[in-house]
Amino acid sequence: MTTHPDELAGLTGLFSDQERAIADSVRALTTREVEPHVADWFERGEIDDPRGLMRKLGALGLLGMHLDGYGCAGTTATEYGVACLELEACDSGLRSMVSVEGSLAMFAIWKWASEEEKQRWLPGMAAGELIGCFGLTEPDHGSDPANMRTRARRDGDDWIIDGRKMWITNGSLADVAVIWAQTDDGVRGFAVPTETAGFRANTIKHKMSLRASVTAELVLDGVRVPDSAAFPEVRGLRGPLSCLSEARYGIVWGAMGAARTALECAQRYSVEREQFGRPIGGFQLTQQKLADMTLEYTKGVLLAVHLGRLKDAGALRPEQVSLGKLNNVREAIDICRTARTILGANGISLEYPVIRHANNLESVLTYEGTVEMHTLILGQKLTGQSAFQ
Ligand code: FAD
Repeated sequence: MTTHPDELAGLTGLFSDQERAIADSVRALTTREVEPHVADWFERGEIDDPRGLMRKLGALGLLGMHLDGYGCAGTTATEYGVACLELEACDSGLRSMVSVEGSLAMFAIWKWASEEEKQRWLPGMAAGELIGCFGLTEPDHGSDPANMRTRARRDGDDWIIDGRKMWITNGSLADVAVIWAQTDDGVRGFAVPTETAGFRANTIKHKMSLRASVTAELVLDGVRVPDSAAFPEVRGLRGPLSCLSEARYGIVWGAMGAARTALECAQRYSVEREQFGRPIGGFQLTQQKLADMTLEYTKGVLLAVHLGRLKDAGALRPEQVSLGKLNNVREAIDICRTARTILGANGISLEYPVIRHANNLESVLTYEGTVEMHTLILGQKLTGQSAFQ
C-alpha cells in the first residue's frame, strides 16, 4: 500500500473546490489530447496540428485565463497556477505554449496596447483562433535585453522595424508577434501582424529540450506597421519585465507539475521493479531518494500556493516571483534527475516521461530569466548591491 505525495503532505486540502475542478478539467484534456502523443511529438520534434490544439486549450478557457474581458476567463491567479501545474505535469512544451500565448503575448497586449489593438487581437487569441508570440531575446542579447539591437524608427505616420529575435516560442505559428525594439524614446513594444512584408520566422531545429514546442528565429527586415501597433504609453524595460513576471509566476507552478509526474513515476517503478529478490523501493537508498523528492516537491507546491495567494491579494512582488522560479525549477530538475536514477536504464527511454521532463526543464531553467539572473535579483534585494554589471 503506497501513499501519493500529495496525500502524504495533505496538499489537496490547500485548494478550493473550484481550484480542484480546474485541475481536473485540465488533466482530462491533457490525458485525452496530449498524453498519448507527447512522447512521439518530443521524439519527432514536431506537434501534430498545433492550431487545433490551441483551439482546444482556448475552448477550455486556458488562454489568458486570469485576464478580464475580451473573451478571457477572468480566473484567480491561483486557479491559473493550478492549470499551469497540470499542463506541465503533461509536458513543459504544452505549458510554454499556453504561457506564451496568455501570459506573454496576450498580457502584453491586454496591459499595454491601445483599445483598438486589444479588440483586434485578444478575443481571437483567447479562443485559440489566433496565436501570439513574444520577441524579446536576440541572438546577442539574452539576459541583457537593455542592449537589444532591434530598432523601430518613425517614417511619416508609420514605424519601420529592423532586427532579429531568437528562441521565440510559438514564433513560426504566430499570427501576431509582440516585438520589443529600441526607439529614440527608449524600448517600446509593438503588436506586429506576422503577415506583414519583411517579417520572417525560421523554426529552430536540433533542440534537445522542449522538443514538443515550436521555437523560432524572427527576422524583421524593414517591417512597416502603423502607429496604432505601438504600445502607446510604456517605455523602457518596464514593459517586457511586467509580462515576464506574469509568465514566471506560471512557471513557479508548472515546474512542480513536471516534478510530480517524475516523482509519481519513480514511486510506482520502485514498488514494481525487483532486484536482489525484492522491490527496489524496499532499499533504504531508494527510500531516501523518494523521501527527499517528496520533501522538495511539497515545499515547492507550498511556495507556489503562497505566491498565488499573495498575487490574488494584489501583493506579489517581482523578487518573490524570482524566489519561486529559482527554487521550483531548480528543485524540479533535481527531482527529475533523481527519478531518472530510480528507473535505471528505463529512465533514459521515452517509454517513461522522466527523461523528457528532465530535458524540458533545462530550457525552463534558462528561459524567463536564468538561475543566475534570479539569484542576482535576490542578492540585490538582500544586500542593496547590484551585481549585474
Ligand atoms: P546569456 O544571457 O548569454 O547567458 C549565458 C550564461 O551567462 C547564463 O548562465 C547566464 O545566467 C550567465 N550570465 C549572463 N549575464 C550574467 C551576469 N551578469 N552574471 C552572472 N551570470 C550571467 N525569449 C523570448 O524573448 N521569447 C520566447 O518566447 C523565448 N522562448 C524560449 C524558448 C526556449 C526553448 C529557450 C531555450 C529560450 C527561450 N527564450 C525566449 C530565450 C531565453 O529567455 C534566453 O535564452 C534567456 O534569457 C538567456 O539568454 P541567453 O540564452 O542569451 O543566455
